[in-house]
Amino acid sequence: MMNKLSRPAEHGGRRKVLVVEDNDLNREILCALLEDEFRVIETSDGEEGLEALAENYTDLSVVLLDVYMPRCDGFEFLRRMRADERYDSVPVVVTTASDRDDDEIACLKLGANDFVLKPYNVDVIKNRVNNIIRLRESAAIVNQLMYDEVTGLYSKEFFYREVEDAFSGSPEAEYDLVCSDIDNFRSMNDRYGEANCDVLLRALAEREMELLPGLVAGGRIGADMFAFLMEHQRPGWQRVLHSVTGGLPLPNVNVKFGVVERADRAMTVPKVCNRAIAALETVRGRIGVNVAMFDDELHECQMLEQAIREGMETALSELQFSVFYQPKHNVRTGRIGGAEALVRWFHPKIGTISPGLFIPIFEKNGFITRLDMFVWEEACKELKRCQEAGLPCVPISVNVSRLDFDVADLPSRIEALADKYGLDHDMLHVELTETAYSDNPEAVTDMLRELKERGFATELDDFGAGYSSLVSLNALPLDVMKLDMSMIRKATELDDFRIMESTIKLAQMLDLKTVVEGVETVEEVERVTEMGCDLIQGYYYSKPLNREDFEAYLAQEGKR
Ligand code: C2E
Ligand code: CA
Ligand code: CA
Repeated sequence: MMNKLSRPAEHGGRRKVLVVEDNDLNREILCALLEDEFRVIETSDGEEGLEALAENYTDLSVVLLDVYMPRCDGFEFLRRMRADERYDSVPVVVTTASDRDDDEIACLKLGANDFVLKPYNVDVIKNRVNNIIRLRESAAIVNQLMYDEVTGLYSKEFFYREVEDAFSGSPEAEYDLVCSDIDNFRSMNDRYGEANCDVLLRALAEREMELLPGLVAGGRIGADMFAFLMEHQRPGWQRVLHSVTGGLPLPNVNVKFGVVERADRAMTVPKVCNRAIAALETVRGRIGVNVAMFDDELHECQMLEQAIREGMETALSELQFSVFYQPKHNVRTGRIGGAEALVRWFHPKIGTISPGLFIPIFEKNGFITRLDMFVWEEACKELKRCQEAGLPCVPISVNVSRLDFDVADLPSRIEALADKYGLDHDMLHVELTETAYSDNPEAVTDMLRELKERGFATELDDFGAGYSSLVSLNALPLDVMKLDMSMIRKATELDDFRIMESTIKLAQMLDLKTVVEGVETVEEVERVTEMGCDLIQGYYYSKPLNREDFEAYLAQEGKR
């Protein structure tokens, strides 16, 4: 399958022809016949001919070879030439005397492509030579389209075609499809340079071709993404994939694999590849796990993701999204001291979809900025409704995703919303996670400062979730630190609250109020209260509530 053909001769310009002939007169005649159309290289025996071949093979169109010569004859020439795969794409036309049929057969067996008889006939010889060149060049062009130059694998189009052919073949056959991809290939390209990475790609492709059992075809379907079709293998064959990286020419190459077993032959090939890639994505960037299978769970995930993407616009226009409010309680008074607005999606067919599923997708496709605007406005409406109903009013926090910071003039937008509903600015809080900050520290710092200047409180969400950097903490214009739910979970599990305690102390030193999230039990409430945190948000007090329930909750609080 590897690409052995060299480049076709340059078009335009005259093609190069090598004449190997010991008889001076014959050679002169032959050269004279060819010279008006070709660039002719003359040699007078097989040895000389082989030397000229080595120098010129990359752009040599044809060799005209005499059979009987001193030193190295035509047979020997053919034998040695055909043993070297660099010369595979160079055709040979043997020149023989008319009465030697057995020579012809012997030469054919040795890899000659055609014959001309002596004495030479101008028309015959030119036509033979031109025909053979045309044939070779069109084969080489097909070949170029067919193979990827860097890896020797099929090009994407040809790979797809090969797989289609296999899929439409014998109905009993079953196939597995594997995609491979190098983690962080782009940074390797920067680090080692393109040429070295090309060598790596080739070595990897060769290694995979060698190791994969039952291989049918392999193709390069992306920069560092290869796909392989195999006959269906017994379970456990994937073990061979662990040895793929051994002996690659660059260090620390991390190759990930996604596998589709018993590929559905009714499916289009790109779709089957996408499934393998979806499986691969689940292990990308992970340490120690390199292979993932496309299974039912992943399939459901994909279907859900698709439904989310396809349904989001309708969901927004048909009000399938609604906002829930989760109370935050003041530790000292025990009374409600705030609430967080959390979006919910009630899909007419699927039912409730968790924000944990759709928010990451919307953060990828940008839809989050529109959804968040909707949530902020809903929160403002709710605050206004509570005021008008004479309910005890508490500030509502809204979530701000990192993409929201790319929206032009976020503080003005939030201010405009608050003003539209006639709200005091201190009734609206803004929660953002630290990852938003680390993406673009200056812009986020400016934005937070501006929000604060306009009277909106700022909260740092999910502190301690694993990416917190204390270094930046005092540089941020913040009012509140929310301790991530994982902190209390871990503390309860280990019965060790020291980290939480010092986190709260740290916040206090920085003049930040603290909210502990995910408080579920009375023991946790007690521990957190001892530590001097300010607000508690968690199931112990309440789950997120729909509007009616939230308002009833507030009314209840008012009566306490
Ligand atoms: P978050 O901002 O950290 O929100 C807190 C999550 O913890 C909520 O999950 C809440 O229901 C849950 N939670 C609160 N107390 C407890 C507890 O005691 N135990 C347990 N097990 N869970 C508790 P939810 O509503 O599923 O939201 C998940 C995440 O989705 C949120 O995490 C937030 O990052 C994102 N999200 C939700 N609504 C919005 C929104 O309107 N805009 C944006 N940008 N993100 C949102
Ligand atoms: Ca939040
Ligand atoms: Ca949180």
